[in-house]
Amino acid sequence: MTAQRIDGNALSHQLRAQVAADTAVLKAQGLTPGLAVVLVGDNPASQVYVRNKVKACQDAGLHSVLEKYEATMSEADLLARVESLNNDPQIHGILVQLPLPAHIDAQKVIEAINPAKDVDGFHIASAGALMTGMPGFWPCTPYGCMKMLESIGYNLSGKHAVVIGRSNIVGKPMALMLLQQNATVTICHSATTDLKAHTLQADVIVAAVGKRNVLTADMVKPGAVVLDVGMNRNDEGKLCGDVDFEGVSQVASFITPVPGGVGPMTITMLLVNTLESAKRALSAQL
Ligand code: NAP
Repeated sequence: MTAQRIDGNALSHQLRAQVAADTAVLKAQGLTPGLAVVLVGDNPASQVYVRNKVKACQDAGLHSVLEKYEATMSEADLLARVESLNNDPQIHGILVQLPLPAHIDAQKVIEAINPAKDVDGFHIASAGALMTGMPGFWPCTPYGCMKMLESIGYNLSGKHAVVIGRSNIVGKPMALMLLQQNATVTICHSATTDLKAHTLQADVIVAAVGKRNVLTADMVKPGAVVLDVGMNRNDEGKLCGDVDFEGVSQVASFITPVPGGVGPMTITMLLVNTLESAKRALSAQL
């Protein structure tokens, strides 16, 4: 079997066009969706990420502001900025780029964001909403994975999904989203004794570890759907995922490449969440 690729760039293109169209409708009603991105310090990777997020907003017609601060910024000053953005009616989404400098308590800063503007979905209220099936914002990366499954018309009901990784931003919310769609879900992590025994049972595998070749062809049931969240560098320094793409492509039915898979979907879902936040703000005014 040669797996079909789920093209994250093409799907992102479609979804961003829809965001742009919906944004134009909101603008005609007098409301422009707005995202504030806050960067503290000069981490080179973070600088690239925030630039891409702001550009994606601009391309889709959203209002976006990028606030950059020195790494020496105090926690109190950052909390004050978040509070000010919470009260800014032009801002519907607030994203504080992680990691933050060590002297700042990142969780405290995330908890200071108004959950109604928590478009990253990292606030404890957003996590609770996902857990209980209440309205909130879903973290962008696993939300993007769900959109990729939807794009191939995959019905998760009754299927066995294995998530490798249990971080608060990818693995755990991914498992909850799959569960919400009636999959039977197994979560694997670094203390899992026989990863292969679990993955071989899976109809859907999501790899979110951050290590190359965590998933190889011998670990995949023929016809399984494989989503690769990992972002690693290979020996040549090129971006690669957690999955042995060439090998697993011979066994799986669908697979996401790296790059060009889950990565672009993450920013796309940030736009989707910001638009949704603006829509909620508008209906609250009516
Ligand atoms: P993380 O917080 O480091 O979590 C990694 C998880 O993998 C942990 O739960 C860890 O288990 C588990 N793990 C480590 N070694 C393992 C092994 N040998 N077998 C099974 N599980 C193992 O990372 P993250 O933030 O979730 O990110 C995961 C990967 O996705 C990274 O490569 C990251 O760069 C990438 N990522 C990509 C995007 C995107 O937009 N494409 C977004 C976010 C993250 P323990 O809990 O037991 O330590």
